[in-house]
Amino acid sequence: MNLSRAARSLGVPVERLESLMDGILKLSSWPEPRLLRFEKGISGVEPGTVIFENGDVVHGYPKIRRAMMLAPAIRRNFLDRVAVEEKMNGYNIRAVSIDGDVYALTRGGYICPFSTEVVRERIDPDLFEDHPDVVLCGEMVGPENPYVPKDVYPVESIDFYLFDISKKNCRSMMGVHATHALAEEYGVNVVPFFGEFPVDRAAEEIFRIIKRLGRAGREGVVIKDPENRASPLKYTASESNCSDLEFAFRYYNDYAQDFFLSRVVREGFQSVEWNEDEAALRERALRLGESILVPLTDTIRRRMQGEQIMQQVQIRVRSIQTARDFEQHLRRMGTKAIFDIPEQDGDSYVVRILKQVMSTNDKTLAVIEGQPW
Ligand code: ATP
Ligand code: MG
Repeated sequence: MNLSRAARSLGVPVERLESLMDGILKLSSWPEPRLLRFEKGISGVEPGTVIFENGDVVHGYPKIRRAMMLAPAIRRNFLDRVAVEEKMNGYNIRAVSIDGDVYALTRGGYICPFSTEVVRERIDPDLFEDHPDVVLCGEMVGPENPYVPKDVYPVESIDFYLFDISKKNCRSMMGVHATHALAEEYGVNVVPFFGEFPVDRAAEEIFRIIKRLGRAGREGVVIKDPENRASPLKYTASESNCSDLEFAFRYYNDYAQDFFLSRVVREGFQSVEWNEDEAALRERALRLGESILVPLTDTIRRRMQGEQIMQQVQIRVRSIQTARDFEQHLRRMGTKAIFDIPEQDGDSYVVRILKQVMSTNDKTLAVIEGQPW
């Protein structure tokens, strides 16, 4: 590992990097190429940042803060104008070329064998030949998705949608315009762009956009400074918050408590900011309540009938080896999953996966048998 080169690129003393090797800087030797991952961040280095053998650094994708009260949040965070993009709901991937081969890095900095197969197929290789240092940050969306299956996008299986570009050894993003221009040039899918708005009119425009997205089952928007002078903010539709809750309450004990609280609190701020009358508030309350109680009671009933609670997903792969590698990838991430035998479908294989949610299973059974909370 060329640690001194990486240290220079990160702006930390090489001794500091060496000392992190027993702690948050973890070696990952599989799948190749070998790399070091920052499991947690340190000042100036995002979690998920990766160091490759030659010392090249791929920075972690930064956290995006959430606007709760949209109009004041926009006024406080941005300068004069904002660019509004769709926030697509899938999982975050960084596609990079290492010694001529393209790999997909997960948010945490692992190489994901499944996502790697997808990006190799979906991104024009000329892009990386012409720009070998580029880091493509994008969302993997679609129904055949191992983490966030959604059928609200024009995607049959799964696809990569670009939302930001960075470069190796560079912490910042190149901005909205460069991203959409590169996507256009190479025919890469890119997140929808809703336009640029002056700061004092933006919230109003975004409310309209959000209501439309919500009705279509889509998640929301990311608001960015067109020249990248301020950090972005995200804002989501009530329907999407509720659909997250509906999913999570089915597996209520396998999610962090903050997942639930933050989604409920958002609903309160949105309702007040939108000046909802009693009827609109009731409609929201009903939607929110149903998204909590319907899945929860379903889980409890199923468990009472002796069922194991599991999450079912499916993926489509070109090669069976990719499915085997993905099984190993899930195992190393600590996810217990049962992979069905791959089923041939045209020139690909469909693999059904049952993910176990042990904690919800155990907790529900214990409570049914009388254990106090
Ligand atoms: P965060 O990324 O803010 O730490 P999180 O991991 O819970 O939080 P989200 O709440 O989904 O993620 O919000 C941010 C994520 O949204 C990004 O990491 C990215 O994967 C995804 N995303 C989808 N569309 C966009 C877009 N247009 N611009 C930026 N990110 C987007
Ligand atoms: Mg997301």
